[in-house]
Amino acid sequence: MHGASQTGIPGRKEVIRRWKEKGGLVAGVFPIHYPRALFEAFGVLPVEVWGPPSADPGPGSSHVQPYVCSLVRNSLSFVHSGDFSLVDLVCAPHGCDSLQGLGSLLTDFIRPEVPVIPLYLPRGERREALSFLAAELQSTAKRLEEITGKNPSAEEMERAIEADERARELAGELLQRRRELPLSTEEFYRVLRSREYLPAEEFSKLALAALSKKGAHPEGIPIVLSGIVPEPRELLDELDGMGALVVADDTAACGRRLYPAGNSSDPFVRMAESILSGPPDPARGASISERADHLLALARSSGARGILFYETKFCEPELFYLPLLRETLTEKGLPSTVVEVDVGEPLSGRVTGRISAFLEMLQQ
Ligand code: SF4
Repeated sequence: MHGASQTGIPGRKEVIRRWKEKGGLVAGVFPIHYPRALFEAFGVLPVEVWGPPSADPGPGSSHVQPYVCSLVRNSLSFVHSGDFSLVDLVCAPHGCDSLQGLGSLLTDFIRPEVPVIPLYLPRGERREALSFLAAELQSTAKRLEEITGKNPSAEEMERAIEADERARELAGELLQRRRELPLSTEEFYRVLRSREYLPAEEFSKLALAALSKKGAHPEGIPIVLSGIVPEPRELLDELDGMGALVVADDTAACGRRLYPAGNSSDPFVRMAESILSGPPDPARGASISERADHLLALARSSGARGILFYETKFCEPELFYLPLLRETLTEKGLPSTVVEVDVGEPLSGRVTGRISAFLEMLQQ
């Protein structure tokens, strides 16, 4: 897990320490989709594990084939690391075959000493998806009740859901107003991604502070950033250095989780509605045409001139979509480029060179 930040935003370990001092439990949550509010209602702080990039890949590599993505490999390394002692439980949502493999390894083979909650997500737009996911969230709540000994009231549940919805709304506003915010790309993503480990209300305060910052507007060639997660983080400074400005986000870690608020009076249905109505994502079985329409709309509304698909190597769900998706985008006049990275390795000259050439092309 990352250490303290130098930007005034508390780091993961500090937030975990404070949370535990107040008697709360911490869940290590693997990507991608899950109900943050449900965990917070039980006094459990979800701290997401996207890699982590700093993990020694060795221990993880011994569990998976070399063609499994670095996100899953490093997640397995994290389970064997000293930082794993900070978590009291683990949640492993099923987002792709590799994540499903990760969940199975945890429940059937590695069996860490802390409880593991698998979370099954429906794929596609089938009619039963909503009731399936609501039931799945109910059984997650049962597990949380067994683990924490708590049973949040309807009001406590509603408060947690509303705080989470507000946090997401503010994350959406940060992205919508990106061009006005006097933050470097790295600073901007540090704020946005602090939602991966901050309690909802703390994130909302931080987002409001960022939204009220005054100063020179950032400039650059406007692009949409797509892919799984902007790691390694040096990408963000590199983008500034190359003269790019990320004006819209379609990464699985950020933009694809800007779920709108749900409507139901039943808290489980409300959380399920919310996740299922999020932006189209291969991990939820979206069609290529839905993905294309969404990306075209994002580019139009943000004024982006092109899309950088910043992909994790061996990420089958993403790579499977790209040929047809990019063809459709090109036909509609939206250029794109693809680079593939390992979250734990420094950016290669080949990757930065390709991004730089793409930006030059967009400028012409
Ligand atoms: S990077 Fe791709 S393959 Fe790896 S866990 Fe994420 S979605 Fe699955």
